[in-house]
Amino acid sequence: MSALPKLAGKLVIATHNAGKLREIQALLAPYGIECLSAGQLGLPEPAETGTTFVANALIKARAAAEASQLPALADDSGLCVAALDGRPGVYTADWAERQPYEGGPGRDWYMAMGKVEGKLAEQGPAVDRSAHFACVLAIAWPDGTDAVYEGRVHGTLTWPPRGTLGFGYDPVFVPHGDTRTFAELDPAEKHAISHRADAFAKLVADQFAV
Ligand code: IMP
Repeated sequence: MSALPKLAGKLVIATHNAGKLREIQALLAPYGIECLSAGQLGLPEPAETGTTFVANALIKARAAAEASQLPALADDSGLCVAALDGRPGVYTADWAERQPYEGGPGRDWYMAMGKVEGKLAEQGPAVDRSAHFACVLAIAWPDGTDAVYEGRVHGTLTWPPRGTLGFGYDPVFVPHGDTRTFAELDPAEKHAISHRADAFAKLVADQFAV
C-alpha cells in the first residue's frame, strides 16, 4: 500500500495544452476531483529541461504544486519512432515549433508530422514504421512528495495524415489492432487504449483504489 497522500478535492492540471487538458479532465471525471488548469490559475510554464519524460513531468508537477499550494498533475508525453532511435521522444513538441524562417513562433503539427515522415522517407520504402506514444503522469503535492505513472501505446505511422479528431500527431498514428488513426477514433475509443489511459489506469489503481 502506498504511503502517499491520496487524491481528493482540488487538483491543478499542470498543462497549457488544451488537448491534454480535455483528455485528462475526461479521464478524471468519474473520480469527483475538481480540476483547475494551470492556464486558468495564471501559472507560468516552466522550462522542460529534463532529458526524460519522467524528469519533465516532475518539473511541471512540482512547479505547479509549489506555485498553487495544491496537488498538481502533469503529463509529459511524446512520440517515439523506432527507425529514428526513439525520436522525437521528449522533443516531440519542439519538432512542431516553427522557426523564424518557417513563419514562427508557434506550433504546426502538420509540419511536425511531415518532419517525421521526411526522416522515415530518407530510409527508403522498406523502413520500419513502428512507433509508440509514451506518457508519464506525475503528481506532486505541496509537501514535496510525488508519484509517477508511465503508459504506452504501440502502433504504426501512416502517411498522409487522416482524421480531424484528437490533437498533435494523432492523424498519423494507427494503434495496433485498428486500421484507423487516433484522429479518426471517437475520443472515448482513444481514451480506452491510449498511452495516457494506460498511465491513468496505474494512477487510478494507486490513488483511488479502496
Ligand atoms: P509535452 O509533453 O508538452 O512536451 O508535449 C508532447 C507532445 O507529444 C504533444 O504536444 C503532442 O504533440 C504529442 N502527443 C502527446 N500525446 C499525444 C496524443 O495523445 N496524441 C497526439 N500527439 C500527442
